[in-house]
Amino acid sequence: MNALLQVENLRVEIAARKRRLVAIDDVSFEIAAGEVLGVVGESGAGKSVTGTAVLGLLEAPAVQAGGRILFDGRRIDTLSEEGMRALRGKEIAAVFQDPLTSLDPLMTIGDQLTETMLTHLPMTRAEGEARAGELLAEVGIPAPRERLQAYPHELSGGMRQRVVLALAFCCAPRLIIADEPTTALDVSIQAQILDLLRRMCRERGTAVMLVTHDMGVIAEVADRVAVMYAGRVAEIGPTRQLIAHAAHPYTRGLMASIPSMRRREKELTQIPGAMPRPDAPVAGCAFHPRCPQAFARCAAERPPAFPVGAARVACWLADPAFEGVPA
Ligand code: SF4
Ligand code: MG
Repeated sequence: MNALLQVENLRVEIAARKRRLVAIDDVSFEIAAGEVLGVVGESGAGKSVTGTAVLGLLEAPAVQAGGRILFDGRRIDTLSEEGMRALRGKEIAAVFQDPLTSLDPLMTIGDQLTETMLTHLPMTRAEGEARAGELLAEVGIPAPRERLQAYPHELSGGMRQRVVLALAFCCAPRLIIADEPTTALDVSIQAQILDLLRRMCRERGTAVMLVTHDMGVIAEVADRVAVMYAGRVAEIGPTRQLIAHAAHPYTRGLMASIPSMRRREKELTQIPGAMPRPDAPVAGCAFHPRCPQAFARCAAERPPAFPVGAARVACWLADPAFEGVPA
């Protein structure tokens, strides 16, 4: 794969009082140009931390303690704050769950769009303002010219997230990190925003890392999916393969819960037990206390990622040398 983004063996640690907790452990994945990679897992699995690391926005006490992040073949995790800021907004944009974290409450949305474009693109203010109006029209804001004068609080949540998308796309980024972009919205609005994100990415060939706890969202939008569990990638592969033949017992549990996905509270909670937290790590495979197929080796040794079709699966059952559980 010709990767636009490569995350290699990423490790993120959190400095706690007497020790360093491991939040992200040996996470590797890549995203091709124009591809949508869904990153799914329970809350606390490390999805957002991974996205934050890619954006170069990790904050103490969280630090990148290992691995590399490359964008377009160039290492970005070693860039200066200034270098990273130039990349963010221009080449890599972010969409977060709460539109108000992306929007400045004291600036009109027209000014925010215009200023962002003037920061990164060679254009005049008049050109920027004209483009801002076009962008609002593209994201489906009614009466876009008048709306340029509006402040974020004057818009509904759904309209604000449309503005955030306009802002994310205004400098024609090649990658968007979208972290639960529809979770804070009314269910009736969620599908509209997701459709808009998908359409804009398709039209522009923009790649997306779509972080969500909602397997239904992944099934609808993602080309490939990375399933995270306890700070690691349990399984990564084409969405269709994972839906049809998930190899990892955790992924299978997630897939079994898809039909009820639309009832928001129930997602991913149908596998009995809880995911281990960074302050109480589990030896061997982190999923073994909950895994219906666990056997002795699972508690003792951590499985590496084995290839299964076009997927990679961190489970001993996927080991080509696996010959069945010893009696
Ligand atoms: Fe289950 Fe063992 Fe596979 Fe982990 S390695 S998912 S415990 S079978
Ligand atoms: Mg999160």
